[in-house]
Amino acid sequence: MAQEPVVVRIAPSPTGDPHVGTAYTALFNMALRRKQGGRFILRIDDTDRTRYQADSEAAIQHELRWLGIEWDEGPDVGGDAGPYRQSERTDLYRAAVEELIAKGAAYRCDCTKERLEEMRAEQRKRKQQPRYDGHCREREVSPDATHVVRLKVPLAGETTWTDELRGAITIQNATVDDQVLLKSDGYPTYHLATVVDDHKMGVTHILRAEEWINSTPKHVLLYEAFGWPLPKFVHLPLLRNSDKSKISKRKNPTSITWYRENGFLPEALRNFLSLMGFSFGDDREEFTLEEFVEAFSLGAIKTGGPVFDQQKLEWLNGVYIRKLGLDELIEHVREHSAAAAAADPALLRRILPLVQERMNRFTEFDELCDFFFVDRVQPPHDDLLPKKRSDTNTAAVLRQARLLVRDLPSLDEETLEQKLRDLAEEVEWKARELFMALRVAVTGKKVTPPLIESMCVLGRETCIERIDAAIDVLGSPENPILGTSDTSA
Ligand code: GLU
Ligand code: ZN
Repeated sequence: MAQEPVVVRIAPSPTGDPHVGTAYTALFNMALRRKQGGRFILRIDDTDRTRYQADSEAAIQHELRWLGIEWDEGPDVGGDAGPYRQSERTDLYRAAVEELIAKGAAYRCDCTKERLEEMRAEQRKRKQQPRYDGHCREREVSPDATHVVRLKVPLAGETTWTDELRGAITIQNATVDDQVLLKSDGYPTYHLATVVDDHKMGVTHILRAEEWINSTPKHVLLYEAFGWPLPKFVHLPLLRNSDKSKISKRKNPTSITWYRENGFLPEALRNFLSLMGFSFGDDREEFTLEEFVEAFSLGAIKTGGPVFDQQKLEWLNGVYIRKLGLDELIEHVREHSAAAAAADPALLRRILPLVQERMNRFTEFDELCDFFFVDRVQPPHDDLLPKKRSDTNTAAVLRQARLLVRDLPSLDEETLEQKLRDLAEEVEWKARELFMALRVAVTGKKVTPPLIESMCVLGRETCIERIDAAIDVLGSPENPILGTSDTSA
């Protein structure tokens, strides 16, 4: 069945860090465009000049591209429907507003801030929803006066529109405010600019977040006032914090930049975001962009409130990290760790296979592997001691281990492990105890890549130095008493 080509768009506001919600919406728009053909437009909604941030637009583009999101038209790539920044389209909005005024569907309003405030205070006192009282609906306001332009919402009747995912939605016109369309600074409001641009750019499907549902009746009234056909509306489920509230910075990092800088792979974040509103209908959670596009349709979008679960994202990121080839892995880790960036690539080739299974984010590399790159480590005294083993006893066992490392003909993994197990038996320790004491001695901590492999990478000399230093921490006893477990310590 051939499907009609679509024209879709996202319209992010350059008001701060690129938001994961923008990426999420972009992904679904891009999927529909790729599935059905057509055009995907990036339009910059920069009409709110008070919240505008100059570097935000470039950051949005950069982070979306990082995630593998590509658009057919936009301020950076051009296109026939431009300009693609709303601040460069103000003539169009002014002309559109004149058209509405001439039709009697909009009017100028020169109410002062003071009057409007007084009006709202009155309404609050009467426990009414604050809204414009229609004072200027039938007045003649000079175009030369400082004024806004408002939509003349019909006083009676109702407005019905269909959300592709939710069905028909009806609202009483009497509940809709006489929305400002053009502000006194000459810039349009979101409502006007969105409707004018979606129409002029030929948008067929509006896929945007659920939070815009309440604005849609205002848009539908505008389409009707202009006499333009309605596009299809598809409101995607809102991303939520784990307490089900709308995703917010306080509870989850929301900036795409944060995820990039904190060791996430674009494929993993992209996969995770698709899961927020889509599933294959089974329990499959890992898929490529191509597989997503292939399986995507509007009908496959789920409307349940998806929880942006950071832990799940980390898990999924780990899945993607494990799939990387060694060269790719090295490249990513070098971007996230100054120690790795400065390290000998040959050394990294030996270390990274030891931690690839354990990292869920590239930024965990330093935490896991810093001991490979420093001159000495600082093993905490208490961590060196296996439970119920004394300083004396532990130092003595470490001394034995040191001799063993020194005298091995070659430091290979198999021999080292076997000899250490033999030693543990000889001194009546569990191998686990010996490994932990040695681990803390040579790495300074308890959670590390596998011990034997790590020791072989560190090399004989470094291991000996570090075991010596650990013995010093324990107080270096004169007469070691081997094989006793001393519970009095
Ligand atoms: N500027 C709005 C936003 O930031 C656009 C909403 C829409 O897509 O209509 O999400
Ligand atoms: Zn007025």
